[in-house]
Amino acid sequence: MKIIPITIPFPAAFGLGKPANCYVIKDDQTLLIDTGWDSPENRVALKKALESIDAWPPETILLTHGHIDHFGLGGYLQQLTGAEIMVHKEDAHMLDDYEEDLVRWYDKVMTDAIEGGFETDGLEDVRSKLLLASKAMLKPVSFTAFEDLKIELKGGTLKSMGVPGHTPGSVAYTIREEAFSGDAAIENTVNVEDLKQEFLSLQKLKVFKNIYPGHDRMPLSRQDIEALEAHFVDRLDDVLGACRDGATLRQIVDRMYFAMAQEQNVIKMIFPIKQTLAYLHYLEGEGAAGKKEGRWFAFRERL
Ligand SMILES: [Zn+2]
Repeated sequence: MKIIPITIPFPAAFGLGKPANCYVIKDDQTLLIDTGWDSPENRVALKKALESIDAWPPETILLTHGHIDHFGLGGYLQQLTGAEIMVHKEDAHMLDDYEEDLVRWYDKVMTDAIEGGFETDGLEDVRSKLLLASKAMLKPVSFTAFEDLKIELKGGTLKSMGVPGHTPGSVAYTIREEAFSGDAAIENTVNVEDLKQEFLSLQKLKVFKNIYPGHDRMPLSRQDIEALEAHFVDRLDDVLGACRDGATLRQIVDRMYFAMAQEQNVIKMIFPIKQTLAYLHYLEGEGAAGKKEGRWFAFRERL
């Protein structure tokens, strides 16, 4: 069994997002884990990359989660090769309604941002660009939504393992000592929807020797995952500190992401806003902080 990484760029036009790490598993079958964003350049790049390692056509496309920068080229590959696309059932709807999903995602961020005291000039522009790009994508014609997946390969059994937190249907594909984690584990930080689930998912990933992330440096080790856990704990303490005397979302974000906040670029602030909200909701769930009249208050000194 061979593992070959392929990195596919994120379109520069949007000013956010990173190149996606995709992986080919070559054994008695050829599997492709994630595809990268669909753009004319990326179509050529991915096909070339697969051909150059003798992995064309891939038989199965395994998606780690339902984000457009991971499944985007799935529809195109499927049209060319007839490859089967597999995705966890919790994220499957995102392949069908990603256009509505993007709008919903954007509108939610804008509502939270405005409520938290941000000016949102410029967000509309990015939203319409994203919508245009998603309309140009080739939609997957069909896909298989699974709860648990097992594929017998000559080199071992590949299994799915739920690692929710980044999205509800995030999965890692595991084989022997390797885990392909998508966006559940990335060096330094992960954008989380649900930090409580994310902590549990990191526990599960820690038993593997090599963890192959959806972005940035690869592979990660057990120590890298522990560093990620420690990072989240530190950040939670920082958020608690920031709302000790009561603070608006904007004040907390400005303190947590001081250097970025100086740039006054609301597009760059989308992820910090989302992430800070995830920290606050985690602390709320733990009874460590709460919101009163638009301000967040810490109920404890430390987590
Ligand atoms: Zn993602």
